[in-house]
Amino acid sequence: MQYSAAGMALVASSRGALDGGATPQALHAHPEGSVTTECDVLVVGGGAAGIMAAIQAGRAGAKTLLLERNSQLGGTTTTAGVSFPGLFDAWGKQIIAGIGWELVCETVALDGGTLPDFSQVPDRHWKNQVRVNPFLYALLAEEKCEQAGVRIAYYEFPQSTHKTADGWQVDCAGFGTRRRVLCKQIVDCTGGAEVVGLLNLPRLRDQETQPGSMLFKLDTAHNPGRPNGPGSGLLDSVYVHGADSSNSRTVTAANLNGRKSVLKQVRTAKKRLMHMQPEAGFRESYRILGDTVITVEDYQSGRVFEDAVCYAFYPVDLHTRSGVTPKPLARGTVPTIPLSALVPKNSQNIIVAGRCVSSDRLANSGLRVQASCMAMGQAAGAAAALAARQQTTVSEVAMEDIRDMLRQYKAIVPAV
Ligand SMILES: Cc1cc2nc3c(=O)[nH]c(=O)nc-3n(C[C@H](O)[C@H](O)[C@H](O)COP(=O)(O)OP(=O)(O)OC[C@H]3O[C@@H](n4cnc5c(N)ncnc54)[C@H](O)[C@@H]3O)c2cc1C
Repeated sequence: MQYSAAGMALVASSRGALDGGATPQALHAHPEGSVTTECDVLVVGGGAAGIMAAIQAGRAGAKTLLLERNSQLGGTTTTAGVSFPGLFDAWGKQIIAGIGWELVCETVALDGGTLPDFSQVPDRHWKNQVRVNPFLYALLAEEKCEQAGVRIAYYEFPQSTHKTADGWQVDCAGFGTRRRVLCKQIVDCTGGAEVVGLLNLPRLRDQETQPGSMLFKLDTAHNPGRPNGPGSGLLDSVYVHGADSSNSRTVTAANLNGRKSVLKQVRTAKKRLMHMQPEAGFRESYRILGDTVITVEDYQSGRVFEDAVCYAFYPVDLHTRSGVTPKPLARGTVPTIPLSALVPKNSQNIIVAGRCVSSDRLANSGLRVQASCMAMGQAAGAAAALAARQQTTVSEVAMEDIRDMLRQYKAIVPAV
């Protein structure tokens, strides 16, 4: 049943009858909360990649639905508290712009902050990451989605996916909601390529994965209003070894372990717990197997792929049990990301963006950062919107059409 005034009235009267002694079956006769949504593009996951994919698809005129299993947009940036996206620049020049940059700039401006000067090459890569207020970032992301005509569905996730004559039927679940989505294209931005997994398409994963982290803040007195409070200050963090974003059981385990470690720190440090993120951050789980797998050699040599859609920039940054020693790229090197690393092998009408990009583990440790995820998201959104418009699959869309659209929306496209 669709949500409607009539539906609401019906539920209310059923409940009234039940309170008055009717059998519970009276409620079951009405499949409350079943909805059907028809759209061109379904974006699953509202993190750095998914926000930009949805806004780009919406701005390009595609009827777009964004499904997010949590309560807000931002993913790792907001829910896990990693609110310092990078890197938008390399070697004194901006290399990533577009919708992600627009959102970051507006967040910083509304918060009264300042942006790094990209003409300066910092001695440490992370110095040019942009500190954003995560609360404002989430609010502005919602506003931009709304302005682009993107419909948001929180607390929902896909349960099964079937091919249809011109795309997909995706059956989704949320509490009190069963949604059937009929769409032409899917953009999987779940971080760990969950929809690709649901389709039984091959994914890559190594035996060992990087630890996740739980972010929190300890201090001596509770004073959330001061400038270094939770909205703007750097948080503390503990590693969560074995953190795996693959399913509700593994995410539960990571959150429980992370929180236990935080409690231990509170007791040891004898300080007050000022702040803790609601969910652990996950560095690594599954990556897709695409037609191109970006290798660490491609990444470190700055290979310019023929079908490059964006740049990426960050040291190779593999966290292990003993910590991390970033390996900076050689001076002047700027890696690129090809469209064929966003399209699962042997697939049609589905594309991914974000940390699940088809890549080996070492390349992925650099590719997974937020500015690169934003750029991939915008590219995937453009490809999906064009494929829906042209009634074809993403890899059949002419590269020049995708690049033209990206340039139109202010993205920086590598020269090939
Ligand atoms: C501790 C830590 C520190 C980091 N440090 C930095 C840094 O300094 N700078 C930097 O730029 N990057 C950093 N990164 C990397 C970066 O933050 C992430 O790799 C990036 O944000 C991933 O973006 P994404 O959009 O691919 O995925 P995510 O941010 O994980 O977003 C995925 C979204 O999809 C949702 N989702 C998942 N499954 C489903 C489903 N089945 N249905 C519906 N929704 C679903 C999730 O709730 C989430 O909102 C760090 C990461 C971690 C964990």
